[in-house]
Amino acid sequence: MKQDKTPIQRLYERIPKTRCKAGCFRCCINYVQMASEEKERMGGYDWQERCPHLTADGKCGVYDARPLTCRLYGASELLCCPDCECKEPLGEDETKKLLCEYFKEAGKLI
Ligand code: SF4
Ligand code: SF4
Repeated sequence: MKQDKTPIQRLYERIPKTRCKAGCFRCCINYVQMASEEKERMGGYDWQERCPHLTADGKCGVYDARPLTCRLYGASELLCCPDCECKEPLGEDETKKLLCEYFKEAGKLI
């Protein structure tokens, strides 16, 4: 039986698609905060100068399970990335609303 999406997974659906510059993984070197359910879904997060899910060829090894922070960067007017393509980034108000809902669902980020 297919499991229902969690409220946090449903928030992901409101984030527009982005396309990163080929070979770029600058975000994946920074520590990413996330909800405990996101950490669990991605199989843990033992950060050591980079995300443990960054593959040897600079790709996200858990793309479908990546947390909201990874999805939002480059996809919002508030979190612009000059190297990322996004046709219709989320506006400021939409981003703030999404983040409020996320913080409410996530509780304390880890
Ligand atoms: S969002 Fe921007 S900085 Fe991050 S990996 Fe993509 S292109 Fe690079
Ligand atoms: S989960 Fe993926 S996109 Fe996010 S930091 Fe790790 S490798 Fe990068």
